[in-house]
Amino acid sequence: MTALTNLPPTAELQRLDAAHHLHPFTHGAGLRDKGVRVITSADGVWLTDSEGNRILDAMAGLWCVNIGYGRQELVEAAAAQMAELPFYNTFFQTSHVPAIKLAERLAQLAPDHLNHVFFASSGSEANDTNIRLVRTYWEMKGQPQKKAIISRWNAYHGSSVGSGSLGGMKGMHAQGGMPIPDIHHIDQPDWWSEGGDMTPEDFGRARAKLLEDKILEIGADNVAAFIAEPVQGAGGVIVPPETYWPEVQKIVDKYGILLIADEVICGFGRTGNWFGSETVGIRPDIMTVAKGMSSGYQPIGGSIVSDEIADVIGGGEFNHGYTYSGHPVACAVALENLRLLDEEGIVDRVRDHTAPYLKQKFESLTDHPMVGEAKIVGMMGSIALTPHKESRAAFKADAGTVGLICRERCFANNLVMRHVGDRMIVSPSLTISDDEIDTLIERARTSLDEAM
Ligand code: PLP
Repeated sequence: MTALTNLPPTAELQRLDAAHHLHPFTHGAGLRDKGVRVITSADGVWLTDSEGNRILDAMAGLWCVNIGYGRQELVEAAAAQMAELPFYNTFFQTSHVPAIKLAERLAQLAPDHLNHVFFASSGSEANDTNIRLVRTYWEMKGQPQKKAIISRWNAYHGSSVGSGSLGGMKGMHAQGGMPIPDIHHIDQPDWWSEGGDMTPEDFGRARAKLLEDKILEIGADNVAAFIAEPVQGAGGVIVPPETYWPEVQKIVDKYGILLIADEVICGFGRTGNWFGSETVGIRPDIMTVAKGMSSGYQPIGGSIVSDEIADVIGGGEFNHGYTYSGHPVACAVALENLRLLDEEGIVDRVRDHTAPYLKQKFESLTDHPMVGEAKIVGMMGSIALTPHKESRAAFKADAGTVGLICRERCFANNLVMRHVGDRMIVSPSLTISDDEIDTLIERARTSLDEAM
């Protein structure tokens, strides 16, 4: 049985899509001129489209299908939970078994002092929760003036008005009234593009110092939190110099500022540990989680918060929540996903084998004439495209165009890689095999050749 036999022809699907479907982060002209590629099924790291093509998904969907596609156990977990209790809420003194068990499991996996979970259905919702959570925390502690949240330019923390404001995407801020008040941004630790003549080490320290400068400018008494991804994902997989995070940790400790680690991409094995915070050696007060928590099989996210914050918030009522906070089906699927990631040793294998193998292959692309640096942490990496490696020059006149051409060549070669400006990104499922990594790199190289 193949689902393909029941589908309308691709052209008809494309026409209907263009007629009725508004897409996220997609230029309308492209949809009208070329039509979408319609994905119909998936298995492992392979997508199948409506024409029957098999496409290697080097992005794990949107950085989320950590366990790979087609896991029947997750289908069964969802079906069993739907039959047992398809929905109940967690408001007004009620709870249910999947939410209780998932909160317990997340507390076990997270760093020792993070033992409390506020659920949401996405990373955006979870970061909106965080804005209110940190401000409410300081209010309840008698410091209501501590409202400012510092973030970084080019960070991505979601698309809602709150989380989009936390993010540092200027194109997003330009649409729809962002940022909201009391959100501030500092420059990112992107040595390749912005490091000039500095060594990566000096640059990492200098970019951390910007946080201290910003805190002093606003006044430490007015600053609630600093939020950052351990490794920036959607901004282009910006791997910070090793000197960056230790300095940042010292600064937030020195000034009594809460640290929010946005682990939406970095969490659940992506960086070679359960959480990116472990990989970069920080001690956050809150971690934002989503994506890999359910491997994308169900929409779920959350904020994992410290005992200290939970104690303070628990002293009153936090007037916040989503209908689907702790949705039972999403929780059941996430629990099963975490069980498989653990019991099948998938995260361990990433650390011990898959990530080192991918790193070696991925870095081999630096001998390509158009590739500057190739940086990878665990299972998330990016290559910087450049017309001149030594000067780390950008394709300035037509920034992003070369990346777009590369992405389109990849797609034509049945490989999904993403481009962010002139960076090409990979973030495959953690279960990708060595042979599949070889295929990924071969197809990437061919696509780069064709884009030259
Ligand atoms: N935070 C980070 C680091 C992300 O990468 C994303 C999405 O890509 C989000 C938050 C938002 O998550 P969602 O798209 O589930 O709302």
